[in-house]
Amino acid sequence: MKEYASVNKEMLAELEAVLGAEYVLTAADKLEQYKTDEETDPRMFHLPEAVVLPGSSEEVAAVVKLCNKYNVPVTVRGGGTSLADGAIPVCGGIVLLMERMNRILEMDTTAMYMVVEAGVRTIDIQKRANEAGFLYAGDPCSAESCQIGGNLATNAGGNKAVRYGVTRNQVYSLEVVTPTGEIVEVGARLKKCSTGYCMEQLIMGSEGTLGIITKATLKLQPLPPYRFDLLAVFDDPVKALDVVPKIMQAGLNPTSIEYMDNSYVRSTADYIEFKGAPHYEDGIYVIITVETFTEDELDLKMEKLDELCEAAGAIDVLEADDRIWSMRRNCQESVRLISLVSLTDDVVVPVDKIAETIKYIMQVGEKYPFPVKINAHIGDGNLHIVLCKCDLTDEEWEKNVAAFHNEVYSYAYSQGGRLAGEHGIGAKKLAYMEAYTPAGELELMRKIKLAWDPQLILNPGKIFNA
Ligand SMILES: Cc1cc2nc3c(=O)[nH]c(=O)nc-3n(C[C@H](O)[C@H](O)[C@H](O)COP(=O)(O)OP(=O)(O)OC[C@H]3O[C@@H](n4cnc5c(N)ncnc54)[C@H](O)[C@@H]3O)c2cc1C
Repeated sequence: MKEYASVNKEMLAELEAVLGAEYVLTAADKLEQYKTDEETDPRMFHLPEAVVLPGSSEEVAAVVKLCNKYNVPVTVRGGGTSLADGAIPVCGGIVLLMERMNRILEMDTTAMYMVVEAGVRTIDIQKRANEAGFLYAGDPCSAESCQIGGNLATNAGGNKAVRYGVTRNQVYSLEVVTPTGEIVEVGARLKKCSTGYCMEQLIMGSEGTLGIITKATLKLQPLPPYRFDLLAVFDDPVKALDVVPKIMQAGLNPTSIEYMDNSYVRSTADYIEFKGAPHYEDGIYVIITVETFTEDELDLKMEKLDELCEAAGAIDVLEADDRIWSMRRNCQESVRLISLVSLTDDVVVPVDKIAETIKYIMQVGEKYPFPVKINAHIGDGNLHIVLCKCDLTDEEWEKNVAAFHNEVYSYAYSQGGRLAGEHGIGAKKLAYMEAYTPAGELELMRKIKLAWDPQLILNPGKIFNA
């Protein structure tokens, strides 16, 4: 493991000279705020030595140059909603906050694009696009608190991925500060391009290890005016999951297909205090959204969807109103009602393997001493498995979590899956990344990291051991 220097007085003085003293924080209570992200296990927390708030790409570049000069690591933080310990400064050093870089710089509705700074909240981008009659199709459930820079760095998915793809599909180009402190533009506002390496795609999903994203040019889509959200309730997970390929094969082009097991139906209904949630006791929810440009098309698709769900064995088919979506959006928070410490997983498998994978996990889960909860973006093969520590000791928890993960990850890889579909690897899954990634692929990643960041300054201790 590489040794880093501590932040010293000279470095702090240089940071203050670049940013202004009010944007360099070292007070204990401030540092305390940035020792974790969404991580709930205190053993994973790590205090930074200083927190900085640059206001421009030039200031970000100057901070990175100083980190290289003083051999101090820097961890970028967007909204701090990482579920993979991505924003925790696991090697100490500096946490760099993007929150001052929060401007929407340009919106062109003729050419359908938007230019934003990386610290803009995702929901503000969505709202601005909607107000103009357009859609920004990136839609993680955390949109109210995460930033677009964090979405780009993790290649976030979300509720519209079935139809529109994930964050990397919404981007034309990026402005990035490299690990050595240069400001570069990567990508271009083109429909097609085969002009050298696709650098913007390499940076997206690199979790702040290959560059600090400072600006992005995002694609806009026309906003479909007609929408219907359907809730199909099942009493058997196999039937619930078997409906997915039928919807896709029927060409209904849904925007989302989401799954909540019964334990989530209960915990989210309790969490949002929704008395009378449909089939609270035994229902398994599949929420399907269809959006269209004409009313007739919507009617036809809804009729077909209703037919497919009933034929698949749904015990009830209803309209999914805002309360049902609120349940879905609050899956993560509702876990706190059951356990203060929990672990959220993010396995992804080919879409046609998701039913078998969920069945396997439910079966395996029965052997373990913790509750296992499952929600999933089933339309894109992405499962969120949540394990609740409840009153297990640290030792019992660690031993059982490791055994459970090894069973589940081995199975997922045997089905052609991967460790993370949207949350990234962060520090949380680094050991598993090393264990499960094919050696040749991991070696290529290491070579890229070392070539771009020879001093290993950017977000060390994340994804793999460089
Ligand atoms: C309730 C809840 C629901 C969620 N739902 C979803 C979901 O539906 N889909 C999904 O994909 N994720 C989801 N997440 C996870 C999380 O919101 C995403 O990973 C999100 O993209 C993180 O964005 P952030 O701004 O909070 O980034 P942070 O948590 O601050 O950082 C995440 C990673 O990105 C890096 N980073 C941040 N900003 C930059 C930047 N400007 N340049 C370079 N690197 C940067 C950080 O160093 C870190 O490695 C959810 C989380 C919660 C708590």
